[in-house]
Amino acid sequence: MKILADYDLKELSEIFSGEKRYLAGQILSFCHNGKTVDEMTSLSKEFREKLKSEYVSTGIEILKEFKGKDGTSKFLMKLSDDELIESVFMTNNYGNTICVSTQVGCRMGCKFCASGKDGLLRNLSAGEILGQILTVNRYMGGTVNDRKISNVVLMGSGEPLDNYNSVIKFLSLLNEKSGINISERNISLSTCGLCDRVYDLADSGHHPTLTFSLHAPDDEIRREIMPIAKKYSVKDIVKAAKYYFEKTGRRVIFEYSLINGVNDKSEHAKALANLIKGFPCHVNLIRLNKIEKGDLLPSMSANEFKSELEKSGVTATIRRSLGSDIEGACGQLKRRYLCKDEL
Ligand code: SAH
Repeated sequence: MKILADYDLKELSEIFSGEKRYLAGQILSFCHNGKTVDEMTSLSKEFREKLKSEYVSTGIEILKEFKGKDGTSKFLMKLSDDELIESVFMTNNYGNTICVSTQVGCRMGCKFCASGKDGLLRNLSAGEILGQILTVNRYMGGTVNDRKISNVVLMGSGEPLDNYNSVIKFLSLLNEKSGINISERNISLSTCGLCDRVYDLADSGHHPTLTFSLHAPDDEIRREIMPIAKKYSVKDIVKAAKYYFEKTGRRVIFEYSLINGVNDKSEHAKALANLIKGFPCHVNLIRLNKIEKGDLLPSMSANEFKSELEKSGVTATIRRSLGSDIEGACGQLKRRYLCKDEL
């Protein structure tokens, strides 16, 4: 099945060039409002039947919502080929944020993250990444004109820059004026540091906020917890981050999950400050979230680590961990299956 949400207005106009002129716009609008083909009721029944034989709208179906205590909801979603992904909806005082997945599984193999435990199953298409936003916006009672989602983070399962073409297309689709139309200022893309792709992104004309999952001040520690560190050094990452800043003017963020006894000592904070000081960036410190079968433990010294960074002039925030009671926090999303009694 093809996915209507994969196409922009121009492409839809070409696909439906034999039909009435305004049809492409109507389909895009239905799609971005999270409607299924059956619900595109201003199209004739006959046309909908024809459309349905070839296309689905977003290709996303919410199977279950897991409600957390802090207002966070995790959604288990089914794709049109029955694969499963998860997205997380979070409320903040400045609006609501959705955390979307970019791949089913992940092939990066970070030791502390649940998303890659089964490897990569497949990439999501641009429309499937977008579809998570459209579906949850509708579920929350939103439309394209009255959005219930203001911010998007590409921090669910998958490595966004390992699915580069779909992610770039997704960023373009978000700009569609008659669609959901969320500004790139409100989009954050997180990467474990595929440096070659960071340069491509900087040159692509798309400028989301870029977040690097650094998690270590040097290559030795990084290699222990992140296989990608064998390909790119921490210096390569900082160089790419600086390029992104110079090219886009967007301050970059380094994510640093504090793991007990691995990367959380004051000497690590000093080394981190040395590595990144001198250009506009910010550090988000996260206490490691527990994952099934993981033997790494959260650090108890986040405050000390933060003070040490600040002494060296590096700004840092200790991030609240949302959704950990529903396994919806950073690193906890996976290709989850439901037990029979949960359905
Ligand atoms: N692959 C991308 C996108 C995932 S974003 C990336 O690596 O950036 C998810 C964020 O949560 C990343 O910063 C990731 O390193 C972090 N993370 C993964 N597992 C975690 C865990 N158990 N506790 C805290 N943060 C974790």
